[in-house]
Amino acid sequence: GDKVVDVVVIGSGGAGLAAAIEARDAGKEVLIVEKMPMVGGNTLRATGGLNAAGTSSQAALGIEDSAESHYTDTMKGGYDKNDPALVEVLTSQAADAVEWLIGLGADLSDVGRMAGASQDRSHRPTGGAPVGAHLVQVLKASAEEKGVEILIETTALEILAEDGVVTGIIAKDKSDNEFTIEAEAVIVATGGFGANITMVTEYDVSLDGFGTTNHSGATGDGITMAVAVGADLVDMLEIQTHPTVVPSNGYMITEAVRGNGAILINRDGKRFVNELGTRDVVSEATLEQEGETSFLFFDEGIKESLSAIDGYIRQGLVTEADSLEALAEALEIDADNLIATVETYNGFVGENNDKDFGRDDMPRSLETAKYYAIEVGPAVHHTMGGLKINTKGQVLTEDGNPITGLYAAGEVTGGIHGGNRLGGNALTDLIVFGRLAGQSVATDL
Ligand code: ADP
Repeated sequence: GDKVVDVVVIGSGGAGLAAAIEARDAGKEVLIVEKMPMVGGNTLRATGGLNAAGTSSQAALGIEDSAESHYTDTMKGGYDKNDPALVEVLTSQAADAVEWLIGLGADLSDVGRMAGASQDRSHRPTGGAPVGAHLVQVLKASAEEKGVEILIETTALEILAEDGVVTGIIAKDKSDNEFTIEAEAVIVATGGFGANITMVTEYDVSLDGFGTTNHSGATGDGITMAVAVGADLVDMLEIQTHPTVVPSNGYMITEAVRGNGAILINRDGKRFVNELGTRDVVSEATLEQEGETSFLFFDEGIKESLSAIDGYIRQGLVTEADSLEALAEALEIDADNLIATVETYNGFVGENNDKDFGRDDMPRSLETAKYYAIEVGPAVHHTMGGLKINTKGQVLTEDGNPITGLYAAGEVTGGIHGGNRLGGNALTDLIVFGRLAGQSVATDL
């Protein structure tokens, strides 16, 4: 049957859950609709951390940091294409977001550094538990305890508006029954469109053939629905890819494997690119190889240097062998070529000169059995563009006016990360802007 609430939130990732909790804390009746059979979206997959400066966790570790430094790093990382007002909100509210999460029961006491940050500010649980799954669990428990209703397997189909004022949504349940949810405010928190390759290639045709690290629900629904009621879009061409993703399951292999000395080989047993080139260059080169994937190849020395590799082995992502011949056989590639490639590369390491591809950092030669390989290919990782919002989380029209009753937060929005998102800033974005949308709804109603 039809429903009536104060606030309906579309999507139950980090942004939607944070928004729902804030609106509920302000006394509103809040309903979340989630199309997948579980809550959490892409947020569940976040493994890095949550960037924030000036937190109690940093203080406990003796780390001195400032929101100004976080701001400067974020603008620089985004090639200054970011909306400065939104980055100001992101970085000035980040520490408060961390304290809020800790207050809800989150463990964010471990703080590390991610690429592009000039200080240790990436917050995560101690002991290496994945941060995204931890935050989803804490937020979901809090939302439910506070009385937020969550309908899973319920898909928002359309945002309803009368004379430019949003009045609710049309949704369908898992039996395809459509119903109306009347609400004074709609918060769009549907995440990005990285799993919608049609939409991705509409904006960047060079990404044709790419896989994705995203969960299958990241199809850009919120963008389509909000545009239909007049929303403006920003930075839609800014799509972040990652070159070393396991094609069968979208599992991302950290860049540190190459950083610590691994090379990429094709099905001919040969290198084909400077492995430390930028993400777009390595991705393009991989797509030119047979099978449009390659093998990330490394030896025991590199395995010992990086604990993440043990996790990849446990998850069954790694082929291993006692000799180069045996590895070549397991990968069904030419053994003589592989042996020659490794010999040549080790020679380059000795001379500190990669005569084939100009790789400037070759920290280790590849000479200690066992030998290892992971099949990898490029994948769409994060869509930085999306709905245009103001610093209150209101969705804007092309002429810059807010659409009454329509709010958005998280990866569905654009402008915060500019031309390149720094690792650790996505979780900050979700929590800061999710909370803000929930608070704005409460004050505007
Ligand atoms: P964010 O990181 O911005 O919070 P996530 O990807 O973590 O985004 O979460 C977005 C959630 O929204 C996902 O769980 C996704 O399944 C859900 N979602 C996407 N489109 C719809 C829709 N049309 N109706 C309901 N839920 C949706």
